[in-house]
Amino acid sequence: MKLEEIVLKYALLNAKQYGKASEDAVIKKVLAENPDVKKEIKQLVDIVKKVVNEVNALSKDEIERKISEMNITEFKKEEKKEPLPELPDAEYGKVVMRLAPFPSGPLHIGNARMVLLNDYYVRRYNGKLILFYDDTIGSEEKPIDKDAYDLIKDGLDWLGVKYHEVMYKSDRLEIYYKYAEELIKMGKAYVCTCSKEEIQKNRRLGIECSCRSRSVDENLRLFKEVLDGKIPEGRAVVRLKTDMKHPNPAFRDRVLLRISEREHPRVGKKYRVWPMLEFSWAIDDYLIGTTHILRGKELVIEDMMEEYIWDIFGWRKAKFIHYGLLKLKEEGAKLSKSKTRKMIERGEIKGWDDPRTWSLQSLRKRGFQPEAIRNFILKLGLSEADITMPIDILYAENRKIIDKMANRYFAVLNPVRIKLNYNVSKISIRYHPDFPERGVREISVNPSEIYVEKEDFEKLKDKNVALIGMFTVKLGEITEFVTNEVSEETPKIHWVSIPNIKIKIVMPNGNEVEAIAEDGVKELKEGDIVQFYRIGFCRLDNKKEMVFYFAHK
Ligand SMILES: [Zn+2]
Repeated sequence: MKLEEIVLKYALLNAKQYGKASEDAVIKKVLAENPDVKKEIKQLVDIVKKVVNEVNALSKDEIERKISEMNITEFKKEEKKEPLPELPDAEYGKVVMRLAPFPSGPLHIGNARMVLLNDYYVRRYNGKLILFYDDTIGSEEKPIDKDAYDLIKDGLDWLGVKYHEVMYKSDRLEIYYKYAEELIKMGKAYVCTCSKEEIQKNRRLGIECSCRSRSVDENLRLFKEVLDGKIPEGRAVVRLKTDMKHPNPAFRDRVLLRISEREHPRVGKKYRVWPMLEFSWAIDDYLIGTTHILRGKELVIEDMMEEYIWDIFGWRKAKFIHYGLLKLKEEGAKLSKSKTRKMIERGEIKGWDDPRTWSLQSLRKRGFQPEAIRNFILKLGLSEADITMPIDILYAENRKIIDKMANRYFAVLNPVRIKLNYNVSKISIRYHPDFPERGVREISVNPSEIYVEKEDFEKLKDKNVALIGMFTVKLGEITEFVTNEVSEETPKIHWVSIPNIKIKIVMPNGNEVEAIAEDGVKELKEGDIVQFYRIGFCRLDNKKEMVFYFAHK
């Protein structure tokens, strides 16, 4: 559209709305739609003057007529409705956020919220997202899994999360040591050689231990011994001086660093002193320039620690945004990663993509679409309240997408053989009822060998039913043709004849069920998602062995 036409459009609309067009209002509108025109502002002003004059000379009817001639829609400026609130103090182009997965296993559905909210906001503000592996040493109960690093990336890529940089805590030990030393020099941290039990007891009672009053020099000497391996594991920690009378006992002189001789999957035995997570975050969030931190609302003490340390150093502070816990109401959906790992080790489940893990990989295997997960998470919003969601909501989001993709096929789980006393050798039926353009599949029928679902057979025996794609019959061991008409009320059942093919379907609980399916499923490629009538949506995972994974009804 030429500039003059754009001006005319706004002048007409403005005149229609207010009786007379105003030059200022028109200029504003034109610039909002075409920021480039700012360069030629003088020319614009001239055009607007001329056009507004012309428009204001028109009668109301003429204005209406011109508007309809120009085919201008009454555009109330279509504001893109954002699903989530703004971030506090966010500047477009300057937001820096980080994803901080602990690599104990792949991301599962419960982690999707953290991941997608960060991705959402970084995109919205055209900011920067850092994938920052939170891989400090972990613990015996919650160890790092070497494979998790790649599994996490794989899950993020599948979800379409765009991160701009990858960092590892395990690369940054020297940095944490340096800042711990700074804190010691400032008299804000000390080496505590009390036992774990003593520390706990003193915290409970609000008592300062004698380590707290050691001189800076003494602390520096001890810290060096800690780093040099002269003090064994469990015999010393570095603690932050907060306040041993702090109302929250957990906040009383929290531990910053501890000794762990465990081997790290990435850096081996190179380091033996490891930071606690919140200490490392206090340092890193400052160093990488994090502007906003999305965090579960239960992690209050983490906020306190970061702020406390930022205050000591006089550092700029990131903003915390909290969200509530998301629980999925579904048997097994709360399986922890450490439990899963043990089950994998014991061979009870096949691997990280087993449906019982609820990992992103397992959802992909079942035919979930990343957009469905994204829609599901964004609809939950950013509420601080804990949410318990029936898993059906996620299924419904996915169904919206795959229902259109999935072609239909017949498969029978518990076959009962019937004979049909009517001669039919072939029928054709649409791949998808809503998309005739996809064409039809031809199914061979052998009237002496037709299989229907046992449940259907028992429930509907001796009644009129429609064999989908065929006609109305009276169901029985010998099934009789009734009529070619199929009425609305007639129950419709699916069936399989010969040739057919044996398939396996892996269910969400890990069980594998067998079924017979129409021969046409041989055409499918691995990764195809289909709907088997009655069974539900399934994804072909292994074509050689015809193994499908069940998604949902
Ligand atoms: Zn002590």
